Amino acid sequence: MKSSDQDGRRALIAERAPALEALETEVAGFYPVIRRETARWVKGTTVLLGDACHTVHPARGQGMNFGIRSAAKLFELLPEPQEMSDAALVSQRLAEYEATVKPPTDKHLADNHERGLNMDTTGPERAAAEIPELRAIAADPVANFRYRMTMAGYPDRLEPLS
Ligand SMILES: Cc1cc2nc3c(=O)[nH]c(=O)nc-3n(C[C@H](O)[C@H](O)[C@H](O)COP(=O)(O)OP(=O)(O)OC[C@H]3O[C@@H](n4cnc5c(N)ncnc54)[C@H](O)[C@@H]3O)c2cc1C
Repeated sequence: MKSSDQDGRRALIAERAPALEALETEVAGFYPVIRRETARWVKGTTVLLGDACHTVHPARGQGMNFGIRSAAKLFELLPEPQEMSDAALVSQRLAEYEATVKPPTDKHLADNHERGLNMDTTGPERAAAEIPELRAIAADPVANFRYRMTMAGYPDRLEPLS
């Protein structure tokens, strides 16, 4: 794939998804990791979850966590099973899901990405900046808790969704 040309990639994509055959594609390296997010998660009764709507910088190992956290919030908003045939209600709940969950998740994704890129940076400048910051976090139990929750992928537990 790395040495493929536009026509070769078109043929490979068309085998899997003919509707995407006309897509212009490019081959990119893995580093530096780039952010890719869909502008919308929801259209009508269709919803995107996890990697399908956002890449996650791998440095902090949170890709799966982001997807699971979003799924848990989606399940809270979905109608009851017996109401699932009501397309208008499902669309309305999905729109509510996107409106309430996407903005804070976008913020967490951006923060995760920035920290991930920072973790990819080596050199004395990073150590000089990070060591005092980590010492300050270690000395403050509240900051320490916030840092650990954020590192583990649960920043949304620390603030109300708005
Ligand atoms: C090397 C590596 C290490 C990772 N380490 C961590 C970690 O430590 N912690 C963490 O939280 N995350 C980690 N991640 C990220 C995590 O694996 C992903 O974020 C997570 O798997 C995304 O889940 P998903 O369900 O959104 O997508 P996926 O896991 O990609 O699932 C999508 C599924 O859809 C299937 N599919 C695709 N197209 C079709 C189709 N047309 N029809 C039917 N099925 C289809 C695919 O085969 C796949 O099974 C890591 C990822 C990698 C690659």
